[in-house]
Amino acid sequence: MKIGCHVSISGSIDKAIDNAVERECSAFQIFTRNPRGWHAKEFTKEDITNFKSKLKTSKIDRFATCAHMPYLPNLATPKDDGFEKSVKTLVNEVERCAQLGIPYLVTHLGSHLGTGEEAGIKRLVEGLTKAGQTKNDVMILLENTAGQKNSVGSDFKQLGEIFNQLKPAKKFGVCFDSCHAFVAGYDLRTEEKVKESFDEFDKYVGIKNLKILHLNDAKGEIGCNLDRHYHLGLGGIGEKGIASIVKFANKRKIPIILETPIDDDRDDFENIRKAKGFA
Ligand code: ZN
Ligand code: MN
Ligand code: MN
Repeated sequence: MKIGCHVSISGSIDKAIDNAVERECSAFQIFTRNPRGWHAKEFTKEDITNFKSKLKTSKIDRFATCAHMPYLPNLATPKDDGFEKSVKTLVNEVERCAQLGIPYLVTHLGSHLGTGEEAGIKRLVEGLTKAGQTKNDVMILLENTAGQKNSVGSDFKQLGEIFNQLKPAKKFGVCFDSCHAFVAGYDLRTEEKVKESFDEFDKYVGIKNLKILHLNDAKGEIGCNLDRHYHLGLGGIGEKGIASIVKFANKRKIPIILETPIDDDRDDFENIRKAKGFA
């Protein structure tokens, strides 16, 4: 199985691999820079060589690594300046992934800010298509959302409609977040329900397009639209559901990335150990 968690790059970008190895990860996710700002300092040649050589020695498969877009960009925004800035950031992040040899970039689908789903999706498709024109092997992964107000892409049918408009197709894939799917109303609490939910996902989006699985339990209940991740097995999805999701991903060799909280109950080490136990 390929499994790991989101790791910090604090200090320098290659520290991500130290953090991943320390946590016995065979997969990991990073932010390529501070996710809470617009600015990204360019990588030096040294940053890139250090990252690549450390990854090689770690024996972690490059295809089990991904980056996540920063938080500020909104690709579905009706505001022109905000949209332009967001697309520019997406293009830049794709290029940063290419520099590091990271094959996947996970992105959120944004908020239409009250202008409606149709308008939001139009913007989103325009922005993603622009970023898809960059000349490299990085694939942009659309992450299903929790269904918060003004968001798009929590419904698999709608996610599929968005996904199928993107060209060139080989530049796009999807990331399935179990917490988001569950709070968006998809039952994942038993093996049977997990199968049903993934069948639905397959019908509209296609399992073959699923490149990364975000494994998170949910703080809230099914359908609550609350994007709060929780420790594996201790949230609304529960142990049976999480175990079934792990098995589903392993069977198809899809890398599993945890984005679970760190608190008095558990840290990353313990959640990863739990997930391995479920397998
Ligand atoms: Zn995300
Ligand atoms: Mn996620
Ligand atoms: Mn989330």
